[in-house]
Amino acid sequence: MKIKNVSVYTCLQPLKIPFSHASSGLVTNLEGVYVKLEAEDGTAGFGEVRGNCSYFTGDTTGAVVSTICSAIAPKMVGQDAENLNVLHQIIEESLVGNTAAKAACDCAAYDLAGKLAGKPVYELLGGKLNDRLPSEENIPFMTVEEAEKRAEEIIDSGCRFIKVRVGGQQFRYDEERVSAVWDVIRSRGVQDEVVYSVDANQAWNTREAIRNLNRLAEYGVTIAEQPVHYNSPIRLKELKENCPMKLFGDECVATVEDLARYIEMGAVDGIHIKLIKCGGIYNAVRLMNLAKAHEIEYMIGGMDEGMMAVAAAVQCGAVAETKLFEVHGHVRIKADATSGLVVHGSVVEVPDGPGLGVTVREEMLKKVFSAI
Ligand SMILES: [Mg+2]
Repeated sequence: MKIKNVSVYTCLQPLKIPFSHASSGLVTNLEGVYVKLEAEDGTAGFGEVRGNCSYFTGDTTGAVVSTICSAIAPKMVGQDAENLNVLHQIIEESLVGNTAAKAACDCAAYDLAGKLAGKPVYELLGGKLNDRLPSEENIPFMTVEEAEKRAEEIIDSGCRFIKVRVGGQQFRYDEERVSAVWDVIRSRGVQDEVVYSVDANQAWNTREAIRNLNRLAEYGVTIAEQPVHYNSPIRLKELKENCPMKLFGDECVATVEDLARYIEMGAVDGIHIKLIKCGGIYNAVRLMNLAKAHEIEYMIGGMDEGMMAVAAAVQCGAVAETKLFEVHGHVRIKADATSGLVVHGSVVEVPDGPGLGVTVREEMLKKVFSAI
């Protein structure tokens, strides 16, 4: 079955609650970019990526759309929709970098292949290991009192993976919130069950990170995500040698090639896998396999992004050999164009429908390109 048409859409996604962390600034809207692949029989597959990620991947919505329309989509028309290896080669060889644009096309290819086969994507990946994905809950920049209340809500909801955003203007403010949340965790008697992590989103230099993380380790924190700038394995390695907790790379480890370099350097204990960074489902599975072979822990996650994008990460989570998930980045969107993903508190159900297992309402999207 050939791909007969590729279309690209955008969708502005206002947030119920704006967010900000050490590198994002205030984000009030997400900007979804959707790719639709249509087969000769009219079956359609969709993929989504968030466009306004300049602080994270360097992407803007316009750049992602332009890259898909000019460099990737025209090459997918006429290809066999069921041959994911060939489609992956075409996407990868279209141009270097540009993993966000590639991810949208890759996820659409998996959605279409799954729908044509009448199978969920996890079956195309070999079969499901997880039915439900208990996801991490965030404690953003807020007052100590608000952080305590949020921690109580998180623990009482049954969630056992908590991440505090750190790297604010004053470390004292970070330490007070991390300490207060640890007190809540201990007062609830769940300190042996909770995975307690912090994410500094590159806020610190190496010296600051060594000092700050050694302080935060006193409060039960066992994972520190991306404390220092993304572009140096040497910084992370120095930190790893002087820090008592596990170091997870997020911004610094995007692709399979990045992970190979960080493994060679011995610079990380774990990585945060996101489809927007690695280029989609195909490469996420490669990252999982490489990480496992080198005893690197991994988290399956994503950005704050639309449900279609999250659904692709959920399919990866279904086949992942990890307990670390962050796959409900869509829950703060006011009106998502996609439906079908079921979330109970912080637990995401893996959908069993064909493809990515969700449905998009095309009338909520704005068409910007079509290649036939
Ligand atoms: Mg992160």
